[in-house]
Amino acid sequence: MAQTVKRKGIRDEGIISAIEKVPRHYFLDSAFAEQAYQDKALQIDEGQTISQPYTVAYQTMLLKINQGDKVLEIGTGSGYQACILIELGAEVYSIERIKSLSDKAGSLLKKMGYAPSLFVGDGTLGLPEHAPFDKIIVTAAAPEVPKNLVDQLKPGGILVVPVGDRDTQTMVQVVKESETKHHTHFYETFRFVPLIGKKGWKS
Ligand code: SAH
Repeated sequence: MAQTVKRKGIRDEGIISAIEKVPRHYFLDSAFAEQAYQDKALQIDEGQTISQPYTVAYQTMLLKINQGDKVLEIGTGSGYQACILIELGAEVYSIERIKSLSDKAGSLLKKMGYAPSLFVGDGTLGLPEHAPFDKIIVTAAAPEVPKNLVDQLKPGGILVVPVGDRDTQTMVQVVKESETKHHTHFYETFRFVPLIGKKGWKS
C-alpha cells in the first residue's frame, strides 16, 4: 500500500514510513479487513469513511509537518489520520461530531499507544480554547474555506481543507504568512464525506 502511494507521487519518506508502520486493518470492521491495504476509502461506522491512503498521504504532505507541531484535525473518524500525524512527531488535537466514532477511536488509539487529545463537537468552529495551531487539517468536505480556522492558525501556519460541492472538492492549502496576509493554493480533486456544522453543510 505504501508503495502504491509512493508510485502515485508521494515522495516524502517520513510519510511513507508512517503509512508502513500504522496497521490500517485495526481501524476497520473485520468485514473490511481484507481490503485494508488497498488504496481506497472504506466504510467505518455511522455512514462515515476512513480516507483513501493516498488522500491521507496527500493532505499530510501539504501540511508540511515538523517535529512538535501542534495540529488540529477536524473529523477524527477512525483515528487513522491522527496516528499518521503522531508518527510524524505532531501533537494532535482532533475533533469529531459523532460521539460514538470519537469513543471508538479513543479506545483503539489508547490500546495502540497513541495519545491525541480528542474532542466531541462541531469542528467547523475549530477549537478556540486550544488555539493557535501550527497546522489544521479538515478531513471532510467544506463548502468554503472556513475563515475562523485561518484565524486559529499561528503566523506561518498551514490549513489544508477539501473545498467544493458535495460530490467533488479541490484540495486547498492556505499558508498564513502573518495576521493580515495569507496565500491560497489549489491542488487535486478528491471526494470526501460532508463537513456538517455551523460553518459547514447543514446536514
Ligand atoms: N480522518 C478520518 C476520516 C474521517 S471521515 C480518518 O482518518 O478516519 C470525516 C469525519 O468528519 C467523519 O467521521 C464525520 O463524522 C466528521 N465530521 C463531519 N463534520 C464534522 C464537524 N463539523 N466537526 C467534526 N467532525 C465532523
